[in-house]
Amino acid sequence: MKQITIAIDGFSSTGKSTIAKQIAKHLGYVYVDSGAMYRAITYFAMQNNFIAKDFFKADILVANLERITISFKFNPNVGFAEVYLNGENIEHAIRTLEVSGFVSKVAAIPEVRYLLVKQQQNLGKDKGVVMDGRDIGTVVFPYAELKIFMTASADTRAQRRFDELIKRGDKVQYQDVLTNVQERDYIDSHREDSPLVKADDAIEIDNSHLTRAEQFDKVLQLVNSTLKE
Ligand code: C5P
Repeated sequence: MKQITIAIDGFSSTGKSTIAKQIAKHLGYVYVDSGAMYRAITYFAMQNNFIAKDFFKADILVANLERITISFKFNPNVGFAEVYLNGENIEHAIRTLEVSGFVSKVAAIPEVRYLLVKQQQNLGKDKGVVMDGRDIGTVVFPYAELKIFMTASADTRAQRRFDELIKRGDKVQYQDVLTNVQERDYIDSHREDSPLVKADDAIEIDNSHLTRAEQFDKVLQLVNSTLKE
């Protein structure tokens, strides 16, 4: 069967990874969470004291990028590939509100983007991939056969992220999560290098009022009609 590239972009916490994982599983495709790669570099920067609340040594981070190896390993217990930084599983550690607070600053650095875009293109070179992020349909795979752009209201997204963090056992306030979502939206869509924009040929899905099942059906229909083309 024909293999395609599926690019799913959108604002923070729009449910991109949920639908990307479901579709990848259904099609037997590889799922790549590109946001996890930006989070991994951010986590590295935090561990090495290159970034904190009151400073960001971006030049030093750039000089140390060669010390970073990011990899993914499929975990059958969770059904998707988890992210590793220099051999350490950091899947859980990168989902904190603290990492979310720094990640958009790290992701705005051109050298960081250059490095990760190359790795993402390599991960998807054989097609049969579903990748989610901010610039997948515009920069990483501008020729992807199917591009989806997910949106939802900031409140809906913050509530979803808040529920996830509480479920993990993190002690967070709803207002802080909402502020983080709004700040990331702003930085991600205003940065100079590869800002978050909807690709001209992307299909927009607002999932503020869709159940997971409805969303899955909608995307699967798009996949099936793309496969027939
Ligand atoms: O998808 P997630 O919310 O985990 O992404 C974390 C951050 O990584 C985003 O807010 C954005 O700053 C950055 N990112 C990016 N380009 C991508 C994926 C994520 O700039 N392709």
